[in-house]
Amino acid sequence: MIVILLGAPGSGKGTQSQLLVSKFGFKHLATGDIFRAEMSRGTELGKRAEGYVKSGKLVPDEIVIEMVAGKIDGPGPYLLDGFPRTVDQAQGLDRILKRSGSEVALVVYLTLPGAEAVKRMTSRRICKTCAEVYNEVSRPPKAAGVCDKCGGQVIQREDDSEATAKKRLMVFEDQTHPLVAYYKGEQIMKEIDSNRAPEAVSQELFVLIESVKAAR
Ligand code: AMP
Repeated sequence: MIVILLGAPGSGKGTQSQLLVSKFGFKHLATGDIFRAEMSRGTELGKRAEGYVKSGKLVPDEIVIEMVAGKIDGPGPYLLDGFPRTVDQAQGLDRILKRSGSEVALVVYLTLPGAEAVKRMTSRRICKTCAEVYNEVSRPPKAAGVCDKCGGQVIQREDDSEATAKKRLMVFEDQTHPLVAYYKGEQIMKEIDSNRAPEAVSQELFVLIESVKAAR
């Protein structure tokens, strides 16, 4: 079973993924987390992605599709967070899944006004080691700069600066938003208003996923 979280940067995909993984045991595939980990290890893939990630541009489709193809290697269930981000990637995913005999069960579009997305991105903090998501205002770590979960260093992402956050939002509108129409056509997309407390959003998500599981 594959569930996709779709939404602007800052719409809560990472936060909701954390909650969904602990509730349903999804294998979490967050392409942004993977690129950041590869970059900090200085791998070949990290070097190829770095310029794009730091400047808020999308990493080219062929690189992302190849990377994801190497990670989907069993029945899952998988939670895709931040992938696909273009229609070409969605078609690439369809090809990957066809080979493994699985399919996308649900796409959840987390909606959020652009101004709120920028506010959330610029106040977001993440753990450099385990990628746990924090927020400077609404969910700071218990000890400043130290991850509650693993003790790693909590930092601001370079691409969460205001200028790059605004650019990423434009990239979302241009290149990722067309996926809403793509998945609406396939009738597997549901929208959830993300302009609320994370718990309210996750409640709705839990119900949705339970109903998809029950129907399978
Ligand atoms: P995220 O952590 O999802 O906000 O992603 C951070 C950055 O990683 C993005 O701004 C892109 O540069 C890159 N990235 C992550 N996922 C993708 C994807 N599916 N396609 C292209 N670039 C991606």
